[in-house]
Amino acid sequence: MTAVKSPSPMMQQYLAIKAEHVDKLVFYRMGDFYELFFDDAVAAAKLLDITLTTRGQYNGEPIKMAGVPYHSVEQYLVKLVKLGKSVAICEQVGEVGANKVVERKVVRIVTAGTLTDSALLEDKQTNRVAALFVGKKQSALAWAALENGEFRVKIIQINQLLDELARLQVSELLVDSAFRLPENMPKIAINRLNHWQFAPDTAFKLLTDYFGSQDLLAFGLDLVRHSAAISAAGALLNYLKITQNQLPPHMDALTLESETQFIALDAATRRNLEITATLSGQSAPTLFSVLDECVTHMGSRLLANWLHHPLRNHDHIQARLDAVNSLLNHDVESISGSLKKIADIERIAARIALGSARPRDLSALRDSLLNLMEIRLPESSLLDTLAACFPETQAVAELLQAALLPEPSVWLKDGDVINHQYNKDLDELRHLQTHGDDFLRDLEARERERTQLSTLKVEFNRVHGFYIELSKNQSEQAPSDYQRRQTLKNAERFITPELKAFEDKFLAAQEKALALEKILFEQLLGSLKDALPRIQQTAKAAATLDVLCSFAHTAQTKNYAMPTFSHDGEIDIENGRHPVVEQQVTRFTPNNTHLNATQKLCLLTGPNMGGKSTYMRQIALIVLLAHTGSFVPAKSAKIGKIDQIFTRIGASDDLASNRSTFMVEMSETAYILHHATAQSLVLMDEVGRGTSTFDGLALAHAIAEHLLMKNQSLCLFATHYFELTKLPEHYPTAFNQHLSALEQGQDIVFLHDVQDGAAEKSYGIAVAKLAGLPQRALKTAQKQLKLLENQNTDRQLDLFAAPINDESDDDAFSGSLVLEKLNQINPDDLTARQALDLIYELKSIGQS
Ligand code: ADP
Repeated sequence: MTAVKSPSPMMQQYLAIKAEHVDKLVFYRMGDFYELFFDDAVAAAKLLDITLTTRGQYNGEPIKMAGVPYHSVEQYLVKLVKLGKSVAICEQVGEVGANKVVERKVVRIVTAGTLTDSALLEDKQTNRVAALFVGKKQSALAWAALENGEFRVKIIQINQLLDELARLQVSELLVDSAFRLPENMPKIAINRLNHWQFAPDTAFKLLTDYFGSQDLLAFGLDLVRHSAAISAAGALLNYLKITQNQLPPHMDALTLESETQFIALDAATRRNLEITATLSGQSAPTLFSVLDECVTHMGSRLLANWLHHPLRNHDHIQARLDAVNSLLNHDVESISGSLKKIADIERIAARIALGSARPRDLSALRDSLLNLMEIRLPESSLLDTLAACFPETQAVAELLQAALLPEPSVWLKDGDVINHQYNKDLDELRHLQTHGDDFLRDLEARERERTQLSTLKVEFNRVHGFYIELSKNQSEQAPSDYQRRQTLKNAERFITPELKAFEDKFLAAQEKALALEKILFEQLLGSLKDALPRIQQTAKAAATLDVLCSFAHTAQTKNYAMPTFSHDGEIDIENGRHPVVEQQVTRFTPNNTHLNATQKLCLLTGPNMGGKSTYMRQIALIVLLAHTGSFVPAKSAKIGKIDQIFTRIGASDDLASNRSTFMVEMSETAYILHHATAQSLVLMDEVGRGTSTFDGLALAHAIAEHLLMKNQSLCLFATHYFELTKLPEHYPTAFNQHLSALEQGQDIVFLHDVQDGAAEKSYGIAVAKLAGLPQRALKTAQKQLKLLENQNTDRQLDLFAAPINDESDDDAFSGSLVLEKLNQINPDDLTARQALDLIYELKSIGQS
């Protein structure tokens, strides 16, 4: 039997640390490397494509090991967090202990949603982490962005989770260990917390301690009514504390978000409208890529945020529009020119808060704050507020000006960071060093004089310190007080007691100066932490100004107009254009849109490729843009109150969750029919296409009717079922429009022009010809079509007529209400007046 050796002290230390971070990859610092052991090594070798080796033994087995160099660790961390992994960074923090092992500690945990290192973050994307609490009575989602101190919470229905994740572009979600994730979760990092980590009492205590308040009423949160929100926010704050090894000091409020603040867009609509990603997941061309004229990354991130959060409050929108208008009449280029020089001070502020800011971060902050103070803005209520923010950080800029050298070193450890005349002791230590040069020159002159040796030089290098150098030939004549220090091929190096004494003093001064610079830098960071709210506010103001300038720039160069708003249910657009498609075609045909109380549902027909999808989307995009405070691609646009935008566009198989095209189509449609209101804008593109013609037609008809009678939303309904174009004959708020096309012989020319009335035919064969279908197949199709047209015209119309002429759902619905009412009364009990009232009531049911 072989005795099992106990693990080495280092391995014991590793195992103890790993035991606390079972679910993470532990990067264990050893000299210039981070090492991973056991299963972590196997996983990392595979994920990072690095070599798997072994080192020593544990329980008689070789220990698997993989490592990455510390100076290039960031590239590996990026890869791992993108794959949804969390990494515990374990550093050497102390001296060698009694067990001969350096003390080590996990100093931070890198997770997808809590990154703050500039190298690990996407420049134009806000990185958010969210925590979901699911309670018996209420559920809540809390989220935070460490990079800008955002900390918010919202009471949600659990079936809204995916919509909220899409809205916030969350990259990491924390859930209870028992929570079952919905089937079609987006690809984000999921981390599971223990149930007790959501306990409302602990959460309440953590939050009140953090904000230094007795309760959370100032944030609109009360422990009884909002316990779900408090649980979610508390669990999230605790997670941030664990990953950052400290409570992030720069989140100064917890905001309770309400449902009515923003126009609601469900996840499918965000995808269909290609706001920040195309349907195939690319970053361009999208609404964001076309509009992003921002010159700072902070601006680009805020713009993406605004596009995902169209406001409902008309006053807030108008304030943005007025600002854009003022900028338009001013020299926008010069303001953008100044903004170009501004660094990402939002992220620098986060690094100051977390204590990881480097010298160049602070010098960039200094230069940015000084530049911002120089910017002069035209007048508008919002611009005045922004302009007032910049001088608020003047004191910070001045402090940084005094404290930092104009071009500090990249690394604090190299010194040359703190300015001259900032600290007397530092100046003295530095003086000793510069003064050293004089001493050395003097010593060299004296020694040459004394020895009369012409090759004598006094020099310094980092490895050997100071020395007197003589050529090989003259080295034999060195005086007796010269002690040999180093022999080279052609020269000999010496040291003298006088030079040694100077060297000691010099090196000590250098070391002291470095240590002092470090202390001064820490103190500087401390004072900056106190000024964080002002720095963050200035960063936000700079980002806002950048977005407004970007809007002004777009309005000018792309010929956008200022939208107006009304309180009626209407969308009135003159010469509207699709902001993205118009950039891709040589000549875009603008179109008008009039949706209002008398024209609520537009049945849109026309050939494939005729421009139906483009037209429908352009209306949604114009409405969305108007609510972000941007001008819009139209000659004019007047928009009434809108609460939500819904879209059912395109056939996308949801392969990941194994739902067929038709299933996706119907569940998205069901969602719309359940949620759309009279203030919603609904886009329906060819519903019913995923099933057989008759089924599809019957469903499309029923859906259109529901939208007209129950939801009463403003709606565009594109369809290939010509039978549906008869709807307006029965429903006065439905109307027909079509996209025109010209037939020239067998060919077709699309005019992309929206005209009143229904399309006469679908031009399917002409489009197929355009697509390059072989002549033979085209001819056969033409023959078949003639045959079918002769046989089937009557039958198809009958099919449409059936539900309307018999008893449509709605007729049946009102009919049943009338019957119910009649059943409830006894005619003999009614007075003449009551009988008359009843007749009026029954008539109104029939008409509603
Ligand atoms: P449909 O939905 O009717 O099949 P699309 O909306 O997809 O048609 O449009 C097909 C193509 O026609 C678009 O990719 C675009 O290039 C062009 N197009 C659409 N609308 C317009 C327009 N108003 N002006 C110019 N080109 C257009």
